[in-house]
Amino acid sequence: MAIPNAVAGLLRRPARLGDEVYSAIFARIMSGEIGPGGRIGVDALARQLGVSQTPIREALGRLEAEGLVVKTHLVGYSVAPQLSARQLAELYEMRLLIEPFAARKCAEVMPEAVIAQIEALCADMAALANAEGLDAYAQFGQLDMAFHDQIAVSADNALLLQALAGLHAHVHLFRLVREPRVTRTVLDEHEALVAAIKARDPAAAEQAMRAHIERSHARFAAA
Ligand SMILES: [Zn+2]
Repeated sequence: MAIPNAVAGLLRRPARLGDEVYSAIFARIMSGEIGPGGRIGVDALARQLGVSQTPIREALGRLEAEGLVVKTHLVGYSVAPQLSARQLAELYEMRLLIEPFAARKCAEVMPEAVIAQIEALCADMAALANAEGLDAYAQFGQLDMAFHDQIAVSADNALLLQALAGLHAHVHLFRLVREPRVTRTVLDEHEALVAAIKARDPAAAEQAMRAHIERSHARFAAA
């Protein structure tokens, strides 16, 4: 698939070239410029970004590991397809198995310093409240991913962390929404969860995470 040249620009700062190439391709996928299932031509990208094929292939390998890109034998790279309704339901079933338990454990074992960190993430997300547009939404998505990752890390179970990471929930979910908007509702759900962890109340933390995931499912199913 041909990629429009409108957004092409030569990349600078070669010291962080790999990251820049990654971000450029990530942005094209998240914005829908290269749609689900769309072919990603290594040559074309290398020309557009003014780099060799090596950093392009490295970035695509990273995106493949994150579930956003698939590599097919003899065909090459393409953007991972959107989740079907069934896959979305399965994703939420798995999140409901894993994350409420992780939240329960966090109420028991999360160090105070880490609680302060997730409160800071909540504050950063609150600063984006009611923001519209893809940039604010993408920022919110990354903060939300960091928030959920930190809870999974703090649950202190490597297999749990691996299972959750393997779902690639955030990269799939944030591509489903066409009219991005960050609302107060999500922030309230996160704050209830953090309050329960801070109060060292495992049952309340588990319940708050379950409620957050169920409501999130309803929001994405509607979108
Ligand atoms: Zn969340």
